[in-house]
Amino acid sequence: MMKLYPSVLAEMTDFLHFVSKLAYSLREADSPAEICFVLHQNLFSQLEATHNEFYIVYPGRTTLLPPPAEFRNHSDPFFSHVPHYLELNENHIRQVIKTKKPVIFNDPDVSLPLLSETGNNSHLLTPVFNNGDIHGLLYCGHESPGYFGEEYIHGFTAIAAILGSRFKTIDEISTLHDNIHNLERAEKVQTALFEISDAAHNVGSMPELYETMHIIVSSMISAKNFYIALTENSDDGTTISFPYYVDEYDSHFQGKRIPLKPGEQRTLTGFMIENGVPLLTGPANFDQVCETHDITFLGSKPTSWLGAPFFNEQVSGAVVVQSYDDIIYSERDKELIVYVARHVGDALSRKKNFDQLKVAKEKAESEKTNKSSFLANMSHEIRTPMNGIIGVTDLLLGTDLNEQQRTYLEMVKTSSDRLLTLVNDILDFSKIEAGKFGIKRSTFRLRDTLAAPLSLLRVQTAQKDIELTTIIEPNVPELLIGDPNHLCQIILNLIGNAIKFTDVGGVRIQVTKDHDAADLKENQVALLFSISDTGIGIPTDQQKKIFNAYEQVETIGNEFYKGTGLGLVVTTQLVELMSGKIWLESTADQGSCFYFKVPFLIPTPMKSSIQPAARSATNFIGNKRKRGLRILLAEDDRISQTIAVAVLESQGWEVTAVVNGQEVLDELENNHHDLILMDVQMPEMNGFETTRKIRVHSNRKTSKIPIIAMTAHAVRGDREKCLAAGMNGYLSKPIETKVFMEIIDKILSNSAPI
Ligand code: ADP
Repeated sequence: MMKLYPSVLAEMTDFLHFVSKLAYSLREADSPAEICFVLHQNLFSQLEATHNEFYIVYPGRTTLLPPPAEFRNHSDPFFSHVPHYLELNENHIRQVIKTKKPVIFNDPDVSLPLLSETGNNSHLLTPVFNNGDIHGLLYCGHESPGYFGEEYIHGFTAIAAILGSRFKTIDEISTLHDNIHNLERAEKVQTALFEISDAAHNVGSMPELYETMHIIVSSMISAKNFYIALTENSDDGTTISFPYYVDEYDSHFQGKRIPLKPGEQRTLTGFMIENGVPLLTGPANFDQVCETHDITFLGSKPTSWLGAPFFNEQVSGAVVVQSYDDIIYSERDKELIVYVARHVGDALSRKKNFDQLKVAKEKAESEKTNKSSFLANMSHEIRTPMNGIIGVTDLLLGTDLNEQQRTYLEMVKTSSDRLLTLVNDILDFSKIEAGKFGIKRSTFRLRDTLAAPLSLLRVQTAQKDIELTTIIEPNVPELLIGDPNHLCQIILNLIGNAIKFTDVGGVRIQVTKDHDAADLKENQVALLFSISDTGIGIPTDQQKKIFNAYEQVETIGNEFYKGTGLGLVVTTQLVELMSGKIWLESTADQGSCFYFKVPFLIPTPMKSSIQPAARSATNFIGNKRKRGLRILLAEDDRISQTIAVAVLESQGWEVTAVVNGQEVLDELENNHHDLILMDVQMPEMNGFETTRKIRVHSNRKTSKIPIIAMTAHAVRGDREKCLAAGMNGYLSKPIETKVFMEIIDKILSNSAPI
């Protein structure tokens, strides 16, 4: 065993060796208690015959205590010969601390019971300082009075210095730890805040958001018990509902609705929402808060309860965490919950706005579609009787009439023509609005396709005594893939307008390949159509407006030019449906030119075969004179049938009328007919089906009979369908003799169908 006699050189060396060993073993100690442990292991065990202990200073306390039991050396037989504790305020201790050096006390000059009780007669007290702060006291005691001498003072001064420096290092390490911890927490807080805000902005459903918020909060603080409350106003007063309630004891609140003030007392949540400020309670103030504010606490009593309210114009409510164990929430936790509450409130309010908007939008959309569908159906229904009126009027005009009757009847005819145009426009417009107008692609010959509408329009230009010129430039491909029906309708509308507003001069349609067209694929071509007239023109300020629904050029206001203002809207929408664009150049009193540009596909040469059914039947009538044709008319509507029969018979043709597809087939079996005029919509077997049957099943001769479809439908949509079913031509009701003759001409002259 070493003795502390530094006056002897060898022992001095021993001592230095010991001190450095102590310093070395202290390297690992990173708490006051561990320092004690090292002292017990490496110092006290080396000191002969003395009773030793180290007393730790705890921040905020005046009592210095020995280290916790596990850090003491239990095998030390003299353990009992040391003080139980020391008091900072005691005189002797104060003296030691003031001196900052080891101090020796010998009985009987000690009047300190804590020391005398040890049974020792001499005591050595060594203060351990670091940066001027006392960290602990080393005690050594011995039975013999005067046991400790100068050499102990020197030795323990050195040991205290080593211990002080270790305390310094521990302080520095713990500051460093604190800094790291704070940094980590700051980073965690930042991530959590970002996650909260992100979740609130990208919320799918509210339950999902509540759950996500709970998970994020749990990553930051203890949140086993977490709920979200919402206030709701109803006829029964204000209530609080709990759309999310996770709790160890009270999870039955999930989905519940309770009055804000049960029995006119408040709930804690209700109080906080009303009060509008966050609330943090712990065991020290929970009862007091409830008492002061007249609060009935409905759930199980928590140790700590932390909530934050949220409110905006749309919603109010709260986010709450509570603990039933020893967790007590802090001010720092409060900040987090306040942040969560704000974001939940914002997300709820956004969601509410969004839902309201969605409902309003859906309502508006369904109203619009309903309106459009209704208009579409109505206008379709109106067409049939209109056709009756127009047809009968035509028939009457063909009879002997006096001057006055003829004038009146022509007025009937003009008005009904106008009405029919209007109904057609509404039908198209409402169909587009209701989204029922699709693009149907097929391969077609542009020149043939344009022939039909142009021949119709030529009747009108002839009546007005103006020119109608068509120029299709040679650079325009013969075959195209696109929607020929829509194209015809666009051209009909634009030329129709041009004719309507031109009294002198003429109308010209020109088609050319658009060389400027960018963004075209290899197999595409853009065609530029221009429809120019020498009519009244459109003033510059009105030019944009006429493309809007129901707008017409104001200055005209002339009864003569009455229209709906829908034609150009339909036209524009059709052009856009075909991925094209439309524009206009016009000078008042000089004329207008409407342009539209539409892309088409060009078929690869091998695939371009069109309408084979048409060709097979074209020679059926052969060179038979048009006069004396035997026509089979299939039409179920009595008025339409009467009109058609009258029109056809007035041409000297022989007409057999039947009312459905089956009768057509029967009639073909039994009698010879040159041509069938067939209504598309018939009961039992419609026109398409009947045609297919004739083409496939009847004998070789009958199967090639020309069939011309008649329909009161939105004319342009059905043409392709008729041709696909094997019909040769297409006629819209009421039958106009002139158009009918032209179709027959076409069939006879072996040209493509109309
Ligand atoms: P509607 O002709 O049925 O009134 P449109 O949409 O087809 O409806 O035309 C809207 C208006 O644009 C017409 O009423 C007319 O004032 C003007 N407009 C259209 N085309 C021409 C044209 N070629 N020349 C002069 N004005 C035209």
